[in-house]
Parts: sequence; structure tokens; C-alpha cells
Amino acid sequence: MKYCLNCDWRASATDDSDRSPSRRAIDHHVETGHTVDSSDGTVPSATATIPEAALGLERSSD
Ligand SMILES: [Zn+2]
Repeated sequence: MKYCLNCDWRASATDDSDRSPSRRAIDHHVETGHTVDSSDGTVPSATATIPEAALGLERSSD
């Protein structure tokens, strides 16, 4: 599950979409500048402001 800290946006793997939640999280961050966090069962980092998914964006070729 990815969710936005700034609005009600969220994405989960069960959503009816051909794009992964991580991909949509990147899109939401890029489009809005909002901070998207994830709740994948790990303890969230209080200092993380950039979603890990966004870090892979520049290296992604698709
Ligand atoms: Zn948002």
C-alpha cells in the first residue's frame, strides 16, 4: 500500500490498474509534489521524505 501524506491519494496492489502501486506513487509525487509513503509492513522511517520508489525513477527506462 502506498499512500499520500498530503491528500487522500493511495494505491494498492489490488487496485484495478496495469501500473504497480510504486509506479503510481511516483506519478503522484511527480504530478503533485506530494509525499507518498508506503505501509508495506515495515517500520516507517520518521526521516524519510522521498518514497523509495521515487529513487528508482531516474534509473527506470520504461
Ligand atoms: Zn497527494
